[in-house]
Amino acid sequence: MDIQLNDRLVMKKSHPCGCNTFKVKRIGIDFKLICEKCSHEIIIPRVKAEKNVRKIIKTDGE
Ligand SMILES: [Zn+2]
Repeated sequence: MDIQLNDRLVMKKSHPCGCNTFKVKRIGIDFKLICEKCSHEIIIPRVKAEKNVRKIIKTDGE
């Protein structure tokens, strides 16, 4: 799965605030994601994050 820094991820599971779009702030064994609505940071294992992605929104338009 081609996830780059600063991409926005539409997740299958939404954040408790109701938003399901997250911005990628760090990539590694874990992903650090920022909720676009409430700016809450979450850190989840890469495998778990990839399983949960519905759509990747590229910021630079490729
Ligand atoms: Zn949120």
